[in-house]
Amino acid sequence: MSAQIIDGKAIGLKVREQVAKDVAEMVAEGYPPPGLATVLVGENPASEVYVRMKQRACAKAGIESFGYILPATATQEEVENLVAELNADPKVNGILVQLPLPSGLDDERVLNAIDIEKDVDGFHPINIGRLAQKGRESMFVPCTPNGCLYLLDEMNVQIEGANAVVLGRSNIVGMPLALLLVKRDATVTICHSRSQDLPGITRQADILLAAVGRPEMVKADWVKPGAVVIDVGTNRIDDPSTEKGYRLVGDVDFDEVKEVAGMLSPSPGGVGPMTIAMLLRNTVRSAKMAHQNA
Ligand code: NDP
Repeated sequence: MSAQIIDGKAIGLKVREQVAKDVAEMVAEGYPPPGLATVLVGENPASEVYVRMKQRACAKAGIESFGYILPATATQEEVENLVAELNADPKVNGILVQLPLPSGLDDERVLNAIDIEKDVDGFHPINIGRLAQKGRESMFVPCTPNGCLYLLDEMNVQIEGANAVVLGRSNIVGMPLALLLVKRDATVTICHSRSQDLPGITRQADILLAAVGRPEMVKADWVKPGAVVIDVGTNRIDDPSTEKGYRLVGDVDFDEVKEVAGMLSPSPGGVGPMTIAMLLRNTVRSAKMAHQNA
């Protein structure tokens, strides 16, 4: 059996086309284009790449982006002052502080300073807290976990009542992903570096989501035949045969697992494109809310 491959690129593109349409309509109605401010502190090459990708995606969708770069020596106060300025700027509908921040800066305080109505990354403690509470809705949901759920919905995967196993419990992926799945009435098991007998646990999963940052860790015998597998991991491994000397792989051994799973979202080409698509969608939603409240 070979798994149905979940094409995150195509699904993400469809979302981005809808976002571009929404933006065009908004502008045609006389509103300014939505604006996303990106805040990059220090010189982390991976963060620089992510921010550039997000800015490019904004430009393609007609969203204005405002890039702010602070040196690694920036103080807590300087970062929080910038966030306060952006909170007050009506051209800015979304504020994205690229994580991780350089050591010495308190990311929780910075995230807490973002106006929750502009928290398009969904990491404000109130938004995360609401995710964990029954009957409460977050203003915005973190983009990568939301992208995973979007893929599952697009593929008509039954979430309610399913046994979902999430590998990873980070603040930005694993934990919010698990909380979202609980909200959607899945029965969720969260695994982490201290979990015992991972293959035994993951084999129980109807839906298995891997976000550990360990190249190709999930093997065929970790997966129940027919299960849905979502690979969030993005890892660089050496490959002298490529021009760059490396290639990207997920947390799932694609070649093995595709022979067992019912559906598989690959990495790259699965969740990655969804993350940016969800960010753009959140930014447009924030702009619409600002217009309604004006
Ligand atoms: P973190 O390093 O913050 O968290 C990793 C999690 O995996 C931790 O909870 C850790 O456990 C757990 N873990 C690590 N090793 C093992 C192991 N051997 N067995 C079981 N659990 C383990 O990573 P992130 O959550 O930030 O990212 C995870 C992956 O997702 C990375 O590959 C990252 O590149 C990718 N990613 C992809 C995105 C996308 O858009 N596609 C966006 C964000 C991330 P513990 O808590 O005990 O330390």
